[in-house]
Amino acid sequence: MIKQKKTGQLIVISAPSGSGKGTIIHGLLEKNKNTWLSVSTTSRKPRTNDIPGVTYNFVSKEEFEKLIKENHFLEYTNYAGNYYGTPKGTIKEKLDKGMDVILEIEIEGASNIKKLVPEAIFIFILPPSLKVLVKRLKKRGTDSKEKILERFHQAYKEINEISKYNYVVVNDDLDEAIDKVDAIIKAEKCRVDRIEEVFVDTKEEEIHELLMEDEKDFDNEKLSEKID
Ligand code: 5GP
Repeated sequence: MIKQKKTGQLIVISAPSGSGKGTIIHGLLEKNKNTWLSVSTTSRKPRTNDIPGVTYNFVSKEEFEKLIKENHFLEYTNYAGNYYGTPKGTIKEKLDKGMDVILEIEIEGASNIKKLVPEAIFIFILPPSLKVLVKRLKKRGTDSKEKILERFHQAYKEINEISKYNYVVVNDDLDEAIDKVDAIIKAEKCRVDRIEEVFVDTKEEEIHELLMEDEKDFDNEKLSEKID
């Protein structure tokens, strides 16, 4: 009856640092094998839980600036004193293959992607409260007090930008938050603007034939009732 777009969807997920978006995205990737997470490049120093090439591609500030000049990035930004960028790389290839692609980026990057790909899905993840956010950042133990304060200010700024996104998910229960993001992506696949073609898959004659078949069955049933 309908032919839907086979290309994947670009999903942009933003959240203040410490809101648990990494864990949500990990859960989402576990659930949907057809989803691919783009690995960003950054000039920030790896944290203990970072895996080079998996969580980020780590480069020096100079290397990052060289990559900017070489037009390597779809978008990039300077966040809390470090560069972060989405490599153009394989994103289009994955989307063309029908895979959904997740970009886990901050608001400025998201707003640049919106200009490039307006049909992308923009999701914002929120912690249950700012207190919880600070507690999580402190518990992570990877940033100094000044850095935590800087990230907190950044988070405060970001929260005021939520209206630029299509969806917001509060991460107070991890499984529920994963289910919600999953449901958003699934619902987006049913949007009418993803329909490429509507066609009639059964001709009228065939419908008549089908109706006649039913009548025959009905007559046969009556006949067998009489014989009984
Ligand atoms: P973190 O240092 O906590 O890993 O990341 C800091 C912020 O940078 C997070 O909000 C994260 O989403 C964002 N970020 C990570 N990669 C990129 C990227 O490629 N582009 C942009 N614009 N932001 C990114």
